[in-house]
Amino acid sequence: MSLTTSRHYQQDADGLCTQLKRSVPKQGCREYEVEPLKAFEDAGWIIENQDLKMFDSIGKGEFGDVLLADWKGTKVAVKRLKDSSMAAQGLLDEACLMTSLKHNNLVNLLGLVFEGSCILLVTEFMSKGSLVDYLRSRGRLHVTKLDQINFTCDTCSGMAYLESQKVVHRDLAARNVLISEEGLAKVCDFGLAHDMKVKLDGGKFPIKWTAPEALRHSKFSNKSDMWSFGILLWEIYSFGRVPYPRIPLADVMKHVEKGYRMEAPDCCPPDVYQLMKEAWDLDPNTRPNFHEVSKRLAQLQLATLT
Ligand code: ADP
Ligand code: MG
Repeated sequence: MSLTTSRHYQQDADGLCTQLKRSVPKQGCREYEVEPLKAFEDAGWIIENQDLKMFDSIGKGEFGDVLLADWKGTKVAVKRLKDSSMAAQGLLDEACLMTSLKHNNLVNLLGLVFEGSCILLVTEFMSKGSLVDYLRSRGRLHVTKLDQINFTCDTCSGMAYLESQKVVHRDLAARNVLISEEGLAKVCDFGLAHDMKVKLDGGKFPIKWTAPEALRHSKFSNKSDMWSFGILLWEIYSFGRVPYPRIPLADVMKHVEKGYRMEAPDCCPPDVYQLMKEAWDLDPNTRPNFHEVSKRLAQLQLATLT
C-alpha cells in the first residue's frame, strides 16, 4: 500500500507531492534527507487502513475531524486531515516530531495511515476529552483540589520533558491537554508548525495564552511556554473560565505590558498563585523553568494528599 501511495504523491500535480518531498526525519532525526513515506515505514510507523475500524467523530481540529476508531482491539483517536497540501505537511511535521518524543504525560503517537491523498494520524485515545471541557462540564462540585493539583503536576511533567528535549510547544492551553480514562492529563498538539497553524486558522492567534515577547517579536521559547503554563494554571483553578474575563482581546496585551495581571481564582492555593505570577514575569529569563516548577508542584501535591 505504501509503495503505491508514495508513487501517487510523486506523480500527482496537486501540490501535495512537492510538500511531501521535504526532508522528513526518521525516528525524529531531523537531518534525514529521505523519502518521507519510506522513512515512516522503515521506522515502523505505518498502520494499515484495513486494521482500523472508524467510529464517531470525537472532536474538531484545525486540520480536520478527530475520530474514535478501533485498532486491533484498542481504542484509538484518528486525526483525519482536511484535503490541503499545507495541512498535510503540517500533519507530517507533527507526526515527525511525535515519533521522537515519548512520555507518560504526552499524548502518544501510535502510527500513521496513508490513504490515497488522505493522511491519518493515529494517537492513543483520551476518553475523558480535553481538560478545558472536563473542568467546565464537571465544575467545582466534582473537580477536587486533588484533581486540580494532579492535572497541574501531570501537565508540568509533560512540559518539563519537552523542555529537556528542547522542544517548544507554542500553544499550551487547557484545550490542548487531554484526560485519559484513568484521569491522567497529557499534553497534545506539541509538534505543530506554527506559522502554518496561524495561517490555517485564518490569522487567529491564542493571544491570551501567548507571552508578550512571543506576540511582539515571535520569540518563542520554553520560557514563553512557561507564560502559557501560568495561564493554564489559572484555567485549572477557575474551572475552565476564559482568561482575562471582561477584557476585550485587542486590549489584553496593552494591559499586560502595563503590569496588569489576573487575580487569583477563588480558593486557589497561594503557592499556585505565586507560580502564576512568576510565570507572568515580563522578562522571560526571570521566569522559572518547568524542571524547577515540577519539583515545587510535587511538594504541593504531597501536601494535598496528606
Ligand atoms: P487541533 O489542535 O487541530 O484543533 P486537537 O488535536 O486539539 O485539534 O483536537 C480537537 C479535539 O478533538 C480536542 O479538543 C478533543 O476534544 C478531541 N481529541 C483530539 N485528540 C484526541 C484524543 N487523542 N483522544 C480523545 N479526544 C481527542
Ligand atoms: Mg488543539
